[in-house]
Amino acid sequence: MTNETTVRAERLRVEAVARCETCGRETDEHERDIRFGLPDPVLRSDEKHLAAGTWMSDDNPNAAVMMQVPELGPFVRSLLPVRLSGGFTVTYGVWISISPADLQHAYDVWWKPQYPEMQLTGRLANEVPPWNVFGAPVDLAVRGPEEIPYCVSSSNSELAQVIADEWNHDLVLSTLP
Ligand SMILES: [Zn+2]
Repeated sequence: MTNETTVRAERLRVEAVARCETCGRETDEHERDIRFGLPDPVLRSDEKHLAAGTWMSDDNPNAAVMMQVPELGPFVRSLLPVRLSGGFTVTYGVWISISPADLQHAYDVWWKPQYPEMQLTGRLANEVPPWNVFGAPVDLAVRGPEEIPYCVSSSNSELAQVIADEWNHDLVLSTLP
């Protein structure tokens, strides 16, 4: 390929990128999965998930679905899908602070046939901008046997709206890394 051909091919590729009429982003940048590596209290702690006595369901916190960190408590992973204008969805992989008894229950059923019936209530352990929902109570339920539990309802009015409402996609996408 000559240089001239390469330049032309590059220009054609750029022109072929579809852009959103609403916000100008590329259309394939509207469906996003945002995975929080650690609960915020763990991220802010000195030793993070390496603190002595920490237990994780996987050595890699990105792959772990449960963890217990001394003095910060047990956490479980959950999915928080948010509907966006234009028919898009951004899905946050968040950590939920739960009680020791609920961690024991989750550990007992997670890899068993009764996993789909698992229900938990905890508190959101990540900041999820643009909303102010850190620490909000949230109910978790399992939707598919191969998936981690979903955030399905909340007694906190703002988090209930995050779960149930459709949000302006420019507002939400502008907060993402
Ligand atoms: Zn857009």
